[in-house]
Amino acid sequence: MRLAAIVETAAERGLKFVGVTDHVDAYVGPNVLWETEKELTQLRTSVRVFLGCEADILAVGKHVVSDEMKTRLDYIMVSANHFHDPAVSQPIGNSPVEVAKHFLEMFSYACSLGFVDVIAHPLVVFSNTFDTACLDFISDEDIAEAALLARRNGIAMEISPRGFDQEQRAFRIRFLSICKQVGLKFAIGTDAHSLDRIGSTWRLEPLLAEVGITDEDIWLPSSRGCSACRAVIE
Ligand SMILES: [Zn+2]
Repeated sequence: MRLAAIVETAAERGLKFVGVTDHVDAYVGPNVLWETEKELTQLRTSVRVFLGCEADILAVGKHVVSDEMKTRLDYIMVSANHFHDPAVSQPIGNSPVEVAKHFLEMFSYACSLGFVDVIAHPLVVFSNTFDTACLDFISDEDIAEAALLARRNGIAMEISPRGFDQEQRAFRIRFLSICKQVGLKFAIGTDAHSLDRIGSTWRLEPLLAEVGITDEDIWLPSSRGCSACRAVIE
């Protein structure tokens, strides 16, 4: 999953845009992003590459996004639910109500950050973390309140294949439908961690249709950084 291989695969599959979002968290600092940025300047490709990040919210009031990341990247994506990582604050207890409250507080905090462009896998319960039953304790009103906050801050929600397993599917559709009603945009992600998954957005098409998401609802980076001066477009 080096940049040159990603972009070559994307070009072969006919993609016009790709976003790369290396993880920055409690252990990995932003240097990984600047290495990718350097690789980007050396590429010649027909694909427009947006340089972003997936930065952790470590707790309510604590994130890993530096000022340099805000100005140098094309977009900032944050995740507020990497609870498999012990460096990320945990709920006070494991009951579904306590877990739901924590998910919502972390998510709402992410929605309150004006520099955020996209929230990665919003309110997805990762396997080996908590029981997905917690999702039943997140109400429509809770979702709408956070979504309104996100709209005020111009934040889009990522839709990736993650979180559409059988136990979370009903919640996912409910969540996305409310986000759509509130007027949020959606960032389509493949969550590709290997080359074979690049461009596999076709997996999402039935779900997008079910929620009524159309081209008009799709978010694209506005290129806040200077990627236009990086990769050479052929
Ligand atoms: Zn993630």
